[in-house]
Amino acid sequence: MNYISTRDPSVKVSSAKAISEGISADGGLFVPESIPSVSLDEIASLAQAGYMERAKNILGRFLTDFTGEELDACVKGAYETGFSDERIAPVVRLRDNIYILELFKGPTCAFKDMALQILPRLLTVANSKVAQGIETVILVATSGDTGKAALEGFKDVENTRILVFYPSDGVSAMQKLQMCTQEGNNVAVSAIRGNFDDAQNGVKKIFTDKRIGDILRSHGKAFSSANSINWGRLAPQIVYYFSAYCDLVKAGSIRCGDKINITVPTGNFGNILAAYYAREMGLPVSKLICASNSNSVLTEFLTTGVYNRNRQFYTTISPSMDILISSNLERLLFSLAGSEKVKEWMSLLASEGKYTVDAGTLAKIKDIFAAGFCGDDATKRTIASNFKENGYLCDTHTGVAVTVYNEYRARTNDTTPTVIAATASPFKFSAAVLEAIDGRQEGLDEFEMVDRLARISSLECPAPLAGLKDKPVRFPGCCEKSGMEAVVLKMAGV
Ligand SMILES: *Cc1c(COP(=O)(O)O)cnc(C)c1O
Repeated sequence: MNYISTRDPSVKVSSAKAISEGISADGGLFVPESIPSVSLDEIASLAQAGYMERAKNILGRFLTDFTGEELDACVKGAYETGFSDERIAPVVRLRDNIYILELFKGPTCAFKDMALQILPRLLTVANSKVAQGIETVILVATSGDTGKAALEGFKDVENTRILVFYPSDGVSAMQKLQMCTQEGNNVAVSAIRGNFDDAQNGVKKIFTDKRIGDILRSHGKAFSSANSINWGRLAPQIVYYFSAYCDLVKAGSIRCGDKINITVPTGNFGNILAAYYAREMGLPVSKLICASNSNSVLTEFLTTGVYNRNRQFYTTISPSMDILISSNLERLLFSLAGSEKVKEWMSLLASEGKYTVDAGTLAKIKDIFAAGFCGDDATKRTIASNFKENGYLCDTHTGVAVTVYNEYRARTNDTTPTVIAATASPFKFSAAVLEAIDGRQEGLDEFEMVDRLARISSLECPAPLAGLKDKPVRFPGCCEKSGMEAVVLKMAGV
């Protein structure tokens, strides 16, 4: 299986190269040249297997230049011990035929772990095939969840170093603690004085600076990215949609072949795109329901065909979805309309901040996707009613998804069994979740809020979050925007 660029199908690389390089030199994203299909018989037999078997099966169809032993080692390394639930991605019933797919059982309690626990392992194998002897320096700009999940994934991985920048006032207290106390011999973290865009722009500039690249190369090192544009992050996310379907079959909640809907709280369009690929592969899925917060650029796009990033940016209680440019959308557009159109639309996005797809493409989109958005108040009301009526406590991002799904179901009377992706532990966003179920809290610190939330909900705070209380801060540093380069060079050891 080869990978081609969304902007130039004549660019063809192996899966190892696609993962090692992360992004195509023409600015396009790597996509598989064809989508492998999975039959209902195969799904029925996967229903009898565990998560790791399912992962090997699905990943093996995409990563054809990895040997069976290599994939086995990557999958075991990622999922065998690091998750607090042996099912890895458990499915629980919310009410009626509505199910929650819990993707937050990994070491950082957000769904990013599902991919970032395995990406470093895939990258190491890929580099051994196509970039031997080179030390990889991973640079990350984060608004919270990605940075911590990447640090946990890459810590102590041979031949790699990882450096994460986060905006000093742009992450939650828990997220900051998670990063500043990070363990491992090849990790570093720095705050920057500025917002997320400053961090991201600074990282992009260093990434593409030829002079810095040359310095690294002369020391046998090269930059790489753990961002969700890397195919090695997307492929592992396809697995859990198959797994959820298999679990429902195995439990007798559906018959193999029955259609389901899938609802995903969406930011960069990575998670829902993985569900789209699962559907293209033959997983019986009817609608994909894309849920956004007040940053509703995707709701507008999926319902009208107009993508317009020229709009107000809102800071919400679901910060991992506060995004106006959803970079993985490019892969969907390629799949539906081809590379010529993608090039045209991406260049309009760069120059005007806006593009409109043709009627044919919009019709295809509407056939597959439904979309909706909601504000913080509606999200909090849903968190409260879910908790009171169904005894289920969800985080703010999942709260958006449930709200949008409830509205979809009421609007359409579509009662197809539905899986809703739950993307973070409620304890990661204690302040907002507590406010939703118990009113506004004054004067409590982060861990007092966690304790209170645990008491009210009768849930236990996940150990990786509770344990932060006693961990020493290793990375208290904060630099100016202009100081990022020096931090990078020092950390890279050049
Ligand atoms: C990253 C993230 C999302 C958004 O996922 P995308 O793949 O960017 O669409 C949603 N919820 C949480 C908790 C996240 O960390």
